Amino acid sequence: MSRIDLHLHSTHSDGSLRPSDVLRLAEKARVTALAITDHDITSGLPEAMSAGEELGIEVIPGVEISSFDGRSELHILGYCLDWKDPLLNERLGTLRASRHRRNPLIIERLRAAGLDVTYEEVRALAGTESVGRPHIAQLLMQKKYVSTAKEAFDRYLAEGKAAYVARELPPPDEAIRWIREAKGVAVLAHPTWVKTSGEGLRTCVTELKEAGLGGVEVHYSTHSKSQTASYLDLAQRLGLLITGGSDFHGVTKPDIEVGSGRGDLRVHPRLLAPLKEAAARL
Ligand SMILES: [Zn+2]
Ligand SMILES: [Zn+2]
Repeated sequence: MSRIDLHLHSTHSDGSLRPSDVLRLAEKARVTALAITDHDITSGLPEAMSAGEELGIEVIPGVEISSFDGRSELHILGYCLDWKDPLLNERLGTLRASRHRRNPLIIERLRAAGLDVTYEEVRALAGTESVGRPHIAQLLMQKKYVSTAKEAFDRYLAEGKAAYVARELPPPDEAIRWIREAKGVAVLAHPTWVKTSGEGLRTCVTELKEAGLGGVEVHYSTHSKSQTASYLDLAQRLGLLITGGSDFHGVTKPDIEVGSGRGDLRVHPRLLAPLKEAAARL
């Protein structure tokens, strides 16, 4: 049963596998097309594309941009965009710099809470310049302060917990504009993150559509059947594209597999053509 996966992370952000290794897992999972959507960065795409050519998997250029609407952190996926666009990459660079400023502050707070951790240790463990909270969670696991990444977030790292530090994020309409200006299609990732439902969710997504949003990630690893149905209904009512992906990260989200999520995810290959057609019209 062929499938696609339009939401995957690599070592270029907070995933644990290199882009070429993600592609190899995709081949095993019979994924025919995919998008590497690293957080606020496009540097993993050349490796993904050459691995894709080798393995016969279509690689759609992608990115996932973090934004904040005053209430919820919203992630905006960008597809089929001109990922070499200098302005886009400059904007993403500024966004990454704000994350770099945040990590040492998180470590300071963990230390203030009595945990023996240093930023150097997190960087060594991450093995990349792109350090994120999942790496900090991994360090807390290694040092036996917690037994799972989820526990690290629940006890220390999540919003409202002792070591939470807010990031300076652009509003979602700005993230959408960045993607549009790079000739990409903007899609709302994991809509469960929108901290409102029913009419409120509809209003939020309608406003995002007015700002240029092109689609909704209807199919997602952690969506229940009823959530999938309600996001599908919302996308169809608003005339938005339907996309889907696993949000694979490797060891930091060990229950999520490339292509199949928690086992029951299947993103149909027929969703790809409308996305590419929308991008070609931009
Ligand atoms: Zn996300
Ligand atoms: Zn993601």
